[in-house]
This record gives sequence, structure tokens and C-alpha cells, in this order.
Amino acid sequence: MLKTVEMMRMPFVNSRMEELVHELDDRLGRSLNTFVVTANTEIIMHARNDRAYFDNLNAANLVIPDGIGIVIGSKIIGTPIEERLTGFDLMIRLFHLCTEKGYSVYFLGAEPEVIEETVDKVNNRFPSLKVAGYHHGYFDPEDPSVVKEIQSAEPDVILVGLGVPRQEQWIAQHRELFPKGLFIGVGGSFDVLAGKVKRAPVFWQKLNLEWLYRLIQRPSRWKRMTVLPLFLIKAIIARILRKKF
Ligand code: UDP
Repeated sequence: MLKTVEMMRMPFVNSRMEELVHELDDRLGRSLNTFVVTANTEIIMHARNDRAYFDNLNAANLVIPDGIGIVIGSKIIGTPIEERLTGFDLMIRLFHLCTEKGYSVYFLGAEPEVIEETVDKVNNRFPSLKVAGYHHGYFDPEDPSVVKEIQSAEPDVILVGLGVPRQEQWIAQHRELFPKGLFIGVGGSFDVLAGKVKRAPVFWQKLNLEWLYRLIQRPSRWKRMTVLPLFLIKAIIARILRKKF
């Protein structure tokens, strides 16, 4: 069992990437059905105001601290998370793991040409990786054909890049239809893999300014990002009042 730190009634994994990958490898080896949430402050604050979405997240097996806001929040309340674990880095680690162990990966999400480009790039970079299939993310969620297609591909890992909150809703509502599968919400990671969106250079990542880099690339995100300072203010207040955060 991985250690966790609780914030806003969510248990965030507090481990190193190595340990997380080891845990997922173990679950894959046992053909378990697993749901991993890659959480940032946007996700957590959204869940505060949307009970059904909170329940979706609560059904996950693991919630990993993807955003720097989560890591800073944990420090403020005095139970520091040792490492930020991003969905993007985890996805790359899983490509290596799946290549090594022969597990297959299904890609669900992004625009049609983006997902094709993503799979092309992944095939080039990981020629031995088994791609179970892929589908773009602009389908009618009521249409059962996408689920049927994924079921018949019997993938070990299902990467779901439908954006927040759609991807967690989709996983929570459909994972029961699969006897096995490691389901992970990966946000805009396919856009990065396809080269449509650039991930912040390492220098920015090291300074914990990835959020600012993304904001500069897509200024329309600013409204969604106002939840980050709000989350931190709440953590500070909880610390001062010695209240549960
Ligand atoms: N997306 C999708 N279906 C939708 C809406 C979005 O597949 O109905 C994809 C979108 O193309 C992008 C990803 O979800 O690849 C993330 O979208 P966005 O940047 O809006 O969300 P966030 O970064 O907040 O997860």
C-alpha cells in the first residue's frame, strides 16, 4: 500500500514515482481493474462544488498529486508530499513498462487528427509497444459503440484524455464494464505527445512554473486557474485555525 496525505477528503499518494510504477505493475500483473486520478487544484476545487464528481473521484484506487498546488498545499498544512507525480510522466513510464512486460495500451481522447498523430509518435518512439487501439474524444457518451470497441480490444491500460471533468466521469461510469484495465485520466497529454501543445521546458518545470507556461500558451485558461490561489488560501486558513483541510 502506498502512503497517502489527506486533503479535502481525498487521499493523495505520497510516494516516489518508482514506488507508484511498482504498485501499478503489481496491479497490472494481477489483471485488476484500477482507476488513477491525476489530480490538480482545478480537479479538487471542482469536486468541492459538484457532489457527483466528488463521488467519481472517490471511487478511484489512487489519486496522484499532479499539480504543484497540491504539493504546496500539503506543505502548508504540515504533511508534505515528497514528490509531484504528473500524469504525463506516469504515462511515459507506463509506455516503458508496457513495452517491457507486453501490456497493451488503448488511447481515448483528443481531436481525431491529434489522436492519430499521437499514436504515430508513440509507435515511432516505442516500436514494440502493443497499441490495442485508439479513438478520438468527440463522441456521444450515450453511444455504446466506443465502449464496445474498447472492450473487444481487451487493453491492459486505457489512457483517457477527455479533459476535466469528462475523463473522470467517463472512467467512473464505464470501468465496471471491463473485467481488467488500468484507467488513467491524462488531460491534454495527447496534445503534447502529438506536438500540438508544448510542455514547459525542464527549466520552467524545475522552478514549478509549468502552470505559468501553460497559461502563456493558452491565456483562456486564466479563469480556471484562479482556483489555485483559492486552494492555497484555504490551506493557510486551515493551518492557522488548526482545522482539518
Ligand atoms: N477533449 C476531448 N473531448 C471533449 C473535450 C476535450 O477529447 O469533448 C480533449 C481535448 O481535445 C484535449 C483534452 O481533452 O486533448 C484536454 O482538454 P482541455 O485542455 O480542455 O482540458 P484540461 O487541460 O483541463 O484537462
